[in-house]
Amino acid sequence: MSAPALPAPPAHVAYTVTVADTQERRLHVSLRAEGLTEGTQTLTFQLPAWTPGWYVLRGNERNLSHFAVQGPNQSPLTVQQLDARTWQVAVKGSKAVTFSYDVKASDTGFGFFEPYLDQKHGFVPGPATLAYVVEGKETPCSVRYTVPEGWEVASANTPVPGQPHQFTAPNYDTLIDQPAELGTFTRYQQTIEGVPVSVVMVGGEPARYRRWADGVFKIAQAGIKLLGGPPFERYSFFFHFANEGGFSGGLEHLNCTVLRIDPSNLDRPDGDNFAIVAHEFIHAWNVKRIRPAALGPFDYTRPVRVKDLWFAEGVTDYFAPRVVVEAGLATQRFWLGYQAEQLTQLMCNPARHQVTLEETSLKVWESENESEGYGGLSYYNKGLVVGLLLDTELRRRTENRVGLEDVLKALLAQCQKTGRGYSDGEIERTAARLAGADLSAFFNRALRSTEELPIKETLEAGGIFVDESVTETATLGLTWEAAAAGQIRLKSVVPQGPAAQAGLRAGDLLLGLDDLQGGLLAQRVPGDSLTLRYQRGGEQYTVNVVLGKEESRSYRLRPLPRPKPQQAALLARISGLRP
Ligand SMILES: [Zn+2]
Repeated sequence: MSAPALPAPPAHVAYTVTVADTQERRLHVSLRAEGLTEGTQTLTFQLPAWTPGWYVLRGNERNLSHFAVQGPNQSPLTVQQLDARTWQVAVKGSKAVTFSYDVKASDTGFGFFEPYLDQKHGFVPGPATLAYVVEGKETPCSVRYTVPEGWEVASANTPVPGQPHQFTAPNYDTLIDQPAELGTFTRYQQTIEGVPVSVVMVGGEPARYRRWADGVFKIAQAGIKLLGGPPFERYSFFFHFANEGGFSGGLEHLNCTVLRIDPSNLDRPDGDNFAIVAHEFIHAWNVKRIRPAALGPFDYTRPVRVKDLWFAEGVTDYFAPRVVVEAGLATQRFWLGYQAEQLTQLMCNPARHQVTLEETSLKVWESENESEGYGGLSYYNKGLVVGLLLDTELRRRTENRVGLEDVLKALLAQCQKTGRGYSDGEIERTAARLAGADLSAFFNRALRSTEELPIKETLEAGGIFVDESVTETATLGLTWEAAAAGQIRLKSVVPQGPAAQAGLRAGDLLLGLDDLQGGLLAQRVPGDSLTLRYQRGGEQYTVNVVLGKEESRSYRLRPLPRPKPQQAALLARISGLRP
């Protein structure tokens, strides 16, 4: 007996993205799978369920319609929809098959997770627009954008010489990781460390673009220097200046990033506005190339769980203000303020007592519509604080010779050598090896326990004076998020805490409230009681809660007044002021 042979992958997949109708905001996509072998009976086409970098299922397939399949000589073939995102075609021995469909391109603010089209602009994010051939995700591919007269195309995929609207990619993962900007836009270019870097901008006031772009180039220079050279052949920053609501922030890609920024920020090319630019740029190393093994090659069909999102996001964010300072766009004061704000956020969050850093990463998919963590603990926030402490600890133990960026560089070298992501525990082993020290106590406490972090002692060794003020405030012992107007959903309740003792549970909806910290709790003291109306399983209830006591801490950081030389040197390094 012999098992039926697996179909050989197609030799090439050629995508065409056509601006079909700017009024109707409709793109037309076709993908032609070429070089099919004779044994190929069926081909399966699928749209990703999620977007790398944003760990939420978004349902992008709802924008697709009018599916069609053609064999050779335009002969129609039957397409069978297997589920919301999967289509199967009987190939009948054809050498090539073309699968095509329409895509509604009506995202807000020039597009972000979903495609966008208007009279002058278009934006094509791969995961929400381009389906893949299940049998050929590793197959080399090409994409051609058919755009109206006078439109340009910008993408960080490999350009085809002499064909300004065509690009190639070695496989599907790479292809869709580079979105395309279409239409009329402003583009600045500079060569940094031998690599062409572009800044592409739409929206806002073009008269203000130049100063912003200059700041971005400085960020690129500082980031490349910090992390030991460019790991890419080209890099693009796409800025969508738009304030019409919806998502605001950035998303990292292999050779580019897309940021949606409020146009009023164009006036302030400063630390506050450029930290996010630096954050996304650092992702070109940390996440896109230094990545957990499970994050790529991607399985787009289901949530992928990893423990290390604290490193992917929090450590990236820890380095962002350093890059801004090294770029000359902010001072050490900005760096200290950035870290202090994150310390305060963490130390005011009761979820730190219930959820570990590894847990908030592993379970991120279980929190609704949110890509920040689980149970109210953000892996960005605690991950940043752990990054700060780890960097300081590494430098203290090695007399400032080894820092956290050296861990990133070593992991990059390892990932590039093996062609795989890092495995479980590899971050910890790499840090310990570089420091020549056993760091297991540090990591167990920081990643796998809910114990308080050793903030004060660690930072003072790093030349930072920690000014901590503790105030007692009233607490309900819960974490929450806004649901609808006038409704608050409980994300978690502290076991034995005031809310738990009154019988409230995670998932309950508090009614008639938009905020807890602001008005409601600010005017009360521990021991006061509060009557709350809530809804559970369609029924409404009223409950009386006696408020408990919570110590909330706020932090201010400044350089130690009389530092030892090694403390001063350490702080200079981690805050971006190179001696
Ligand atoms: Zn990020």
